[in-house]
Amino acid sequence: MAQFDLQKFKEIETPFFYYDESLLKETLKIIKSESDKHQFHVHYALKANANNRILELVKQAGLGADCVSGNEVLKAVELGFESNNIAFAGVGKSDKEINIGLDYDIFSFNCESLQELIVINELAEKRDKTARVALRINPNVNAKTHHYITTGLEENKFGINPWEFEEVLKVLEECNHIKLVGLHFHIGSQITDLDVFKSLCLRVNEIQEWFISKQILVEHINVGGGFGIDYENVDENPIADFAAFFQLFADFLEVKPSQQVHFELGRAVVAQCGSLISRVLYIKNGQKTNFAILDAGMTELIRPALYQSYHKIENITQAGAQSSEKYDVVGPICESSDCFGKAVVLPLTKRNDLIAIRSAGAYGEVMSSAYNLRDKAIAVYSSDLK
Ligand SMILES: *Cc1c(COP(=O)(O)O)cnc(C)c1O
Repeated sequence: MAQFDLQKFKEIETPFFYYDESLLKETLKIIKSESDKHQFHVHYALKANANNRILELVKQAGLGADCVSGNEVLKAVELGFESNNIAFAGVGKSDKEINIGLDYDIFSFNCESLQELIVINELAEKRDKTARVALRINPNVNAKTHHYITTGLEENKFGINPWEFEEVLKVLEECNHIKLVGLHFHIGSQITDLDVFKSLCLRVNEIQEWFISKQILVEHINVGGGFGIDYENVDENPIADFAAFFQLFADFLEVKPSQQVHFELGRAVVAQCGSLISRVLYIKNGQKTNFAILDAGMTELIRPALYQSYHKIENITQAGAQSSEKYDVVGPICESSDCFGKAVVLPLTKRNDLIAIRSAGAYGEVMSSAYNLRDKAIAVYSSDLK
């Protein structure tokens, strides 16, 4: 079990997100050193967690930003990320959002359709600018992850498909206000099987060869994010194996001289540093099922309700107790999917015990909602408790 300061936690109104900054710093240090070995460039996907304090540490570690909305671009700029280090993807960028990217001359618009290329060109022309674009390509590689977080299959809405490439080249020839600078891929999230990334590399090599055969050599290849974490063995495995991850791309991606390789990691950067801390409101003993009813729910952490995802659940008040019981650990929201885990083995649990839901640093707080007119849970940082 992680080292939580129970005495300090008891004084804080629950539910709240707790962030372990030393783990985040350690993770960032390893990402930086392992990617530097291969001269790889890493962007952080803001959508995983966009808290200012988290972003500040990410920026200090020297990562760029990966954004999927105009407001994320504005946030990255506001927090001091260099605009030439900001990538902007998204299947439905509005004109307003594209104009934000143009205003700041961002590193690349990762463009997801033919029509978007034309729109970016028109908007850039109006501002007398040249937009840097990368083609987000749908490589039809199976990420072997939950189907809601698979993005690189033909049936998914993301990216430009290979059979559209000829037409893309025609459009690029006619558009004088966009410059093709990269090829971009992002096939899904929570990918733990490195073979999937090997398949991606091989597919990228083929696609790159096609472009080279048309005399197009882009400045950069962006292989996206998606590297998964160990939700089960959180304390044994708090930092994903970034050495193996980057080495795999060094081994299998065919990079041309002068070409840069970019990554966009989200979950693997921030998931493990965050926990959702909640209080048990009630224990309800049923005939078959005991319920532990928490004061946190899907409004704070929607991943279990949305993707049936697993999060490790710990009773930190009764840590070390010998007794054990099975509980369905549920939230207070009026939805039956508002359940963090079924038949979870916990020590005998009582009203007011504190419960930690682990690995909640990514796609937790940032996805929270006010459904049922709930208050927003606060964020608490380890350095504030010293
Ligand atoms: C969500 C997203 C990422 C980050 O994904 P993780 O699984 O959190 O690493 C990277 N790039 C794009 C385009 C995304 O949409």
